[in-house]
Parts: sequence; structure tokens; C-alpha cells
Amino acid sequence: MRRKLAAGNWKMNGTSAALGELDMLATSHPAPGVDILVCPPATLVSAAVRTVDNRSIRIGGQDCHSETNGAHTGDISAAMLRDAGATAVILGHSERRASHHETSEDVRAKARSAQKAGLMTVICLGESLLQRQATNTLDIIGAQLSLSVPDSSNGQNLVIAYEPIWAIGSGMTPTPDQIGEVHDFMRDRLEQRFGSGVGRSVRLLYGGSVKAANAAEIFGISNVDGALVGGASLTAADFGPIIAAL
Ligand code: 13P
Repeated sequence: MRRKLAAGNWKMNGTSAALGELDMLATSHPAPGVDILVCPPATLVSAAVRTVDNRSIRIGGQDCHSETNGAHTGDISAAMLRDAGATAVILGHSERRASHHETSEDVRAKARSAQKAGLMTVICLGESLLQRQATNTLDIIGAQLSLSVPDSSNGQNLVIAYEPIWAIGSGMTPTPDQIGEVHDFMRDRLEQRFGSGVGRSVRLLYGGSVKAANAAEIFGISNVDGALVGGASLTAADFGPIIAAL
């Protein structure tokens, strides 16, 4: 049985003042049966770990380098995130694929390194609007999935987030049928590659304009095990009801 997961991606938002929201979320603890992951900017990871203080919210990074250390100015490694107290990392977000030219091969190298360091990897996949309109969605997702996910993956260290690029921050979401089609497809592909035991244990999140108003409907779709939430994860008032809907 897969545990539900509500993951928040703060993106480049939040200074230390934002930790009050995290404290509120941890205190109000909307749903004890649900795993919660919050990924603040790297500058806040250590402080966020101290803020949650073992109150069953995991803290993660939003990216890491594929190397452990070295001459990579401005980058951070998986081992550094682990050392700061993070237990997870988001990889291959479409914003990084677009603005940092990350390829699926880059994402796989990062994921391999992160899994080796003991981090749970949340690997993001998603099609553009043009790709969906050209009915290429499943081809794109299939290619991103096979290339971005390392062989070292299993149900504990891999989570996949399906985030259609056109649904991120836009207020638009795919229909439940469209989400279900992609999630069923990803499940089949994971079972084919890793066998049904591992393939069935990997959690599949939906991301893109998730909010309290649409969360329950999205969480009712088969093979949707939770959400990766951007804007609505920034405050306890917005994120709490989404978690409760799981
Ligand atoms: P929004 O929830 O703001 O649409 O962002 C989704 C996202 O990109 C999460 O990684």
C-alpha cells in the first residue's frame, strides 16, 4: 500500500520569515496518515529542519549536482543536502530543464547521486502545451521517464511527479481523464522496467495548479498518490487543506 505524499515546492520563495508557515503547518498537522515534504530554497534547508524538529514533515532540496564535491561554483551536492538534514530532493523540474538546460540524462546522473547519498528523489516529468496538442504526451513522458530515472530506484527512493508544463502556475489543469491516462501509463512503464513489486510501490504525484478547490478531485484519480504543489504550498492556510484532502 502506497502512503500518500503531499510535497511542497517553494521554488525561489521564502526568507527566514517564511519558516513561521512551516511551524504552523507542523503544529496543525493536518493529516497524520499522510507524508508531508516541504522543499524550501537551499538557504533555508537547515533552518527548516530545525523548525520542524522531527514533527513528521520531511525537508528536501529543489536540485542537487551529480558530483559529490568539486569546482562547481554555486552548486550544492546531495551529500551537502543530506548533511543539512534534508531527506529528499526534487530533480528535473521543468523550470530547471528550461532555464538551466537540464537534460533527462543530467537528471538521471543527479538522481543516481542523490539516491546514493540516501535522499528520496522526486523526479519531475511533463509535456508542453504544444506537445499535448500534437498528441505527443505519452511519447514525451515515456522518454523522460526512461531516461531520467536511474536503475538504482525503488519504492523508497523514487517518487515521480507528473507536471504538465502548461499547468504550472497557470490555473489550468488537465482533465481527470488526462491525468489518469498519464499516471496509468507511468505505472505500466515502471512495472515493466522494475517488476510489479517495485513498480507498484513508487508514488506518482500530480503537480500543476493544485489548490484546495481541486485537490479532492485530483486525489480521487487512480494512480495519483499525492501532489507536488507550488504556489499553494507557501502558506499553512493554503497547503493544510490540500494535505487534508489526501
Ligand atoms: P503551481 O502549484 O504553482 O502550479 O506549481 C507547480 C509546480 O511546479 C510544483 O513543482
